[in-house]
Amino acid sequence: MGKKLLIHNDKVPGIATLDVYRQHGGYASVEKALKTMTPNDVLEEVKKSGLRGRGGAGFPTGMKWSFLARPEGVERYLVCNADESEPGTFKDRYLMEVIPHALIEGMITSSYALGAKTSYIYIRGEYFYVARIVEKAIDEAYAAGLLGKNILGTDFSHDCYVQVGGGAYICGEETALLESLEGKRGNPRIKPPFPAVAGVWGCPTVVNNVETIAAVCPIINMGGDEYAKIGIGRSTGTKLISASGHINKPGVYEIELGLPVEEFIYSEEYCGGIINGRKLKAVVAGGSSVPILPAELILKNDKGEPRLMSYESLSEGGFATGTMLGSGGFIVYDETTSIVKNLYTFARFYHHESCGQCSPCREGTGWMEKILHRIVEGHGKPSDIDLLWDIQRKIEGNTICPLGDAAAWPVASAIRHFRAEFEEYINHPERIKDVKHYYSVHQLAGA
Ligand code: SF4
Repeated sequence: MGKKLLIHNDKVPGIATLDVYRQHGGYASVEKALKTMTPNDVLEEVKKSGLRGRGGAGFPTGMKWSFLARPEGVERYLVCNADESEPGTFKDRYLMEVIPHALIEGMITSSYALGAKTSYIYIRGEYFYVARIVEKAIDEAYAAGLLGKNILGTDFSHDCYVQVGGGAYICGEETALLESLEGKRGNPRIKPPFPAVAGVWGCPTVVNNVETIAAVCPIINMGGDEYAKIGIGRSTGTKLISASGHINKPGVYEIELGLPVEEFIYSEEYCGGIINGRKLKAVVAGGSSVPILPAELILKNDKGEPRLMSYESLSEGGFATGTMLGSGGFIVYDETTSIVKNLYTFARFYHHESCGQCSPCREGTGWMEKILHRIVEGHGKPSDIDLLWDIQRKIEGNTICPLGDAAAWPVASAIRHFRAEFEEYINHPERIKDVKHYYSVHQLAGA
């Protein structure tokens, strides 16, 4: 069994309640941090741990915290990004739904390190019922003196609020989230200034993902050095993976980073192999925004070495032969899957979710959807593949926020690795009806 630090007690009856959570060691990191450590000690432990942001970017958390501006007399804030909307990703929902106090505990310990008197948990609008669960946990924490004035009799006081999001994917982009939190339309801001200097209400703010904040608890409990021994290389610790698609056991798994991809897909401990013993065709390893890889490149890198579930191993070879760990939304496609139809589903999603501020994203996502639609409807033209390639290149790197790249990369990788399938659709449209399997965005989101 692999090491578990975040959802090791997820099957304990009543673990969502404060009493049971504390009986199983809950809030130990708050006790330890507030009573025996300075805020800077907590920051140093997080730095030593090598923890990287679990929302997708993988930026070192300790470094992000150390960028927080600390001008005299100005409030600082911690904002939890719980706007989990990436197709194929549902691990934060599981954590908040099953062990909500793990997040609250992390919010208190992290806020102590950052000197934040107030924090916000911005939860995806469609996760309304999860927001109620988290609010209930917050109420319990207030009643037990874990939130509010002089927490556990110390000098540290802290308030934590839940804000339900506007139901838009773009609100998961940190500056769009801050706009939405302030009651405005969720349009991404132009950076700089970065949130660490001017975040919510114009004040210095750290925005971290749910899983990142929850991971601070085991780091403080065991120490940053011990945490850094788990995992592989610069991919330290454990990671929650949302596994979906043509596998026998879809669900949320906690893995030790460095686990071979092949073991993750085929072992009984995790995905349990491909449905009906079919062959693996491709994998989207980190949520719908990352490049799709064919079976031969997801199981082994271009040097023939086993591909590992880590930031470095999955990205080895760059986008020519690699991908990204991203948010850990691991979507498995078997040999019956239509890559082109799946791509059309993604393209519709990104076009719908584009906020429209920048032309390459607003226009480009629309054109990619339109071209893919005619291809899957059997009206594709031979020039469409090059046209799609050209459009995605004009989007990548030319937009205000990463949604443009997120829309471009799946298209680029699908053409790079599955060009023959596009040609088949265009040259033999009569065969399209034979393609049976593809996922809708709702299925990928685990709805
Ligand atoms: Fe909006 Fe797309 Fe530009 Fe992001 S890249 S700011 S979503 S138009």
